[in-house]
Amino acid sequence: MVRNRTKACDRCQKSADIMYRIQVDKSVGWQLVCHDCWKILSNRPNYIYGGTWKAHKR
Ligand SMILES: [Zn+2]
Repeated sequence: MVRNRTKACDRCQKSADIMYRIQVDKSVGWQLVCHDCWKILSNRPNYIYGGTWKAHKR
């Protein structure tokens, strides 16, 4: 089992190697979401993109 290599999506709890830091609601703040949730949330009117998180850093 691999530990601490991936992060869990704030929306669906799935873990992924690449996560997207986004904000769709200022009261909620920044969220880290997977690619599937990012595709859905990026259509929100208040969507802000804050960068990408990767499991394998150099
Ligand atoms: Zn997700």
